[in-house]
Amino acid sequence: MERATGRINPTDMAMKQVEIAAARMPHLDSAILEKITHTKRETVVHFPARMDDGSVRTFAGYRVQHNDARGPFKGGLRYHPDVDLDEVRALAMWMTWKAAVVNIPFGGAKGGVQCNPKEMSARELENMTRRFTWEISPLIGPERDIPAPDVYTNPQVMAWIMDTYSTIKGYSVPGKPLELGGSLGRYEATGKGVFVSASEAAKHLGMSLDGARVAIQGAGNVGGIAAKYFRQAGARIIGISDSKGGLYNPHGLDVDRALDCKNRYQCFIGNEAGADEVSNEELLQLECEVLVPAALENQITEKNAPKLRCRMIVEGANGPTTPEADALLFDRGVFLVPDILANAGGVTVSYFEWVQNLQELLWTEDEISERLTRILSRSFSEVLTISQKENTDMRTAALILGIGRVAEAARLRGIFP
Ligand code: NAD
Repeated sequence: MERATGRINPTDMAMKQVEIAAARMPHLDSAILEKITHTKRETVVHFPARMDDGSVRTFAGYRVQHNDARGPFKGGLRYHPDVDLDEVRALAMWMTWKAAVVNIPFGGAKGGVQCNPKEMSARELENMTRRFTWEISPLIGPERDIPAPDVYTNPQVMAWIMDTYSTIKGYSVPGKPLELGGSLGRYEATGKGVFVSASEAAKHLGMSLDGARVAIQGAGNVGGIAAKYFRQAGARIIGISDSKGGLYNPHGLDVDRALDCKNRYQCFIGNEAGADEVSNEELLQLECEVLVPAALENQITEKNAPKLRCRMIVEGANGPTTPEADALLFDRGVFLVPDILANAGGVTVSYFEWVQNLQELLWTEDEISERLTRILSRSFSEVLTISQKENTDMRTAALILGIGRVAEAARLRGIFP
């Protein structure tokens, strides 16, 4: 399962999860299962972009379309040095199950460019984004495949994508800034969804989030926004981190001050934020009620799972926990809300944006928040019911629900010709 870089292969991990869930789905047709565990289309492009010093660099870009049995492909675009086909393939598959778990009529896709955006200027990022969009433009579009933001891509990147795409085709894509037809609440959607999932889990466990200790790995769109919702509910954010390390204060961090420190210095500085500094590994092991991994894959493995001291884990990130760690945590009674449920707020509001754009409607923030909460709470309850009936963990239950819905759509559609 280890890749050449020593990292666990995310595609192997995604396939293992499917295997575990499928073992509990005796009525699943094996031919259909085989079909939906393969990606429909994988595109790799190598393309040039001009750098500020006049040189030209070649980048590797990916768009993997996993399955569209239930609706157009949908999935984020990631800019990170570790992006490769195995990572994007796994993320595309998780996207398919996720849209099905929340019953949104989208399929799953994912894309990315292998690059280090932290070392690139805005102009270089723009050049790279526009050329990548041009390369994949025959594949994407509101009725085919809908891109959205992910790690190190933001509404500005989406605006460049939209502008380039619409120059070619005349349509737009989700995750855009509000001024360009983006939806209210899209930026907050995933972080809010994480909070809604944690609230449902707390209710189920008979505990209150008011006063609960929360540790968050990753202070970006998902982790940073989730922190604000937890704080509003009276929780204490005792730890928060980014790629360089994090902050710890057992009495609760001043979240605004901590995030402001990160914005100003591009990292957390203990004495600026009135806190101690912690490593990411230490942060994961803090004693707390809620742990939110909201950075990257493979953070909770069989090595550190026995050392975690949280009551529940709510996965903001995609694929932060390996199947081996899942089993250890389940045995230890740690309640885990899996990525394909906990971070489904993003795809849900991307769907709202898509619906509003197609109908030229503008929903209010309250309408979006209410619809989002209703969908996530209902999905949580459906997954919980399966987990209780099957006496299994929430990930396997969510996969049973998601895979089951995708398989049924594939069965009804049949095989062409
Ligand atoms: P982001 O770029 O806004 O933020 C990523 C954060 O993670 C940053 O604070 C970064 O410093 C931190 N980070 C990066 N490497 C790290 C490391 N090795 N250890 C600790 N922290 C690290 O990205 P995001 O949109 O918040 O995405 C985070 C996760 O959530 C990803 O797994 C992504 O796929 C998932 N996700 C995002 C969305 C969305 O709508 N943005 C939706 C669903 C899932």
